[in-house]
Amino acid sequence: MFDKVLIANRGEIALRIQRACRELGIATVAVHSTADADAMHVRLADESVCIGPPPARDSYLNIPALVTACEITGADAVHPGYGFLSENARFAEILEEHKITFIGPTSEHIRIMGDKIEAKETAKRLGIPVVPGSNGAVTSETEAMKVAKDMGFPVLIKAAAGGGGRGMKVATSAADLGTALATARSEAKAAFNDDAVYIEKYLQKPRHIEIQVFGDGKGNAVHLGERDCSLQRRHQKVLEESPSPALNAAQRQKIGNTVADAMRKLKYRGAGTVEFLFEDGEFYFIEMNTRLQVEHPVTEMVTGADLVLEQIRVAAGLPLSFTQDDIELKGHAIECRICAENPRDFRPSPGQITYWHPPGGLGVRVDSGVYQGYRIPPYYDSLIGKLIIYGKTRNDCLMRLRRALSEFVIDGIETTIPLFQDLVRDPDIADGVYDIHWLEKHLGMK
Ligand code: ADP
Repeated sequence: MFDKVLIANRGEIALRIQRACRELGIATVAVHSTADADAMHVRLADESVCIGPPPARDSYLNIPALVTACEITGADAVHPGYGFLSENARFAEILEEHKITFIGPTSEHIRIMGDKIEAKETAKRLGIPVVPGSNGAVTSETEAMKVAKDMGFPVLIKAAAGGGGRGMKVATSAADLGTALATARSEAKAAFNDDAVYIEKYLQKPRHIEIQVFGDGKGNAVHLGERDCSLQRRHQKVLEESPSPALNAAQRQKIGNTVADAMRKLKYRGAGTVEFLFEDGEFYFIEMNTRLQVEHPVTEMVTGADLVLEQIRVAAGLPLSFTQDDIELKGHAIECRICAENPRDFRPSPGQITYWHPPGGLGVRVDSGVYQGYRIPPYYDSLIGKLIIYGKTRNDCLMRLRRALSEFVIDGIETTIPLFQDLVRDPDIADGVYDIHWLEKHLGMK
């Protein structure tokens, strides 16, 4: 096992990783920008190193500073969390060259899945169902038109290097294909410095359902059921739940086994999430995330597995601590992403938290990186905490969620708590009938 893990992240996820390390008896090193000197992840770590000024590219994305921090502190492994360098194949490779363990998959697997075109081809080869679309990149409008006409409109143009919903454009008819193609290309170029795009059938009313997997890197892999992340705004997840209210046991088992089989063939190592759109009973692969996800706690609540602890164990070369037969999905869990944002127009609301009273009681988990008196810096994403609720049934879970939201008090800044208070009272949410467009339509109506 490792002696000391450097956590190359901030906020709630840095704390989440620290907790797993502490339980395993591993010392932790926090890194921080000058803007984060007072952050909770710095206060709770065994050691901390300042790695640069506030902009992420100069601190949390600064690979030389991170490697130096490992060398100064003698850390023998790095956990990247999510976001920042978690899916940067070069970072994983550089750590390997310095004999520091990257807690994650091989750099090769990160690279394959980071290119959406290659990821899709790999998924297809491994027997995973994919969204119909172009064979690889489309280079000209003529080619795009042929693909779109064969498939039928509407189509979606997506960036090969995509992420965070950028470089994605819908073309509803032949008339707007040219513009959609050009806009997607220039957005992709600006965001990722790579203007390669491909085309997919645009699914009209799918749900977003993703499968959590774990591999040991030697050909064993286990799936831990699904998460339904259909409640999205601008392609960003807002609320997640497990299990999905839209799946029956047979569908769950079938897609879970398909994904686990694929990961065995790939000899995948560590935690991964295979994301699908689900429509009319069919699954369509969209991408794979080769890291821990923000919404991992809902899976932890219904399986009892500690995903971060498992990541560390696997990275240390230990076998998976569970087999497929050990994994039993029990009860229901829902996560609400609490952001420092105006709950109506979603404008960021940085500033000082003057009062902080998180909810408690049975089945209530709050993963957060803030405290009363903490000043939220304006430089990073607005997620300040996650409220995760467990209940024996979906109904129990929703009842408890309503109760927990009524207890949660955060003063000094605006948060998205009122949005969730509204959502848990909506009949469609209560019935579990929503697709990926539901939230935006609902917000538009208000
Ligand atoms: P990113 O990596 O930028 O987040 P994804 O491929 O994961 O991109 O897609 C993000 C979201 O965009 C999905 O959750 C879904 O809401 C929407 N989306 C992606 N592909 C399609 C498609 N073919 N049809 C309809 N919606 C899609």
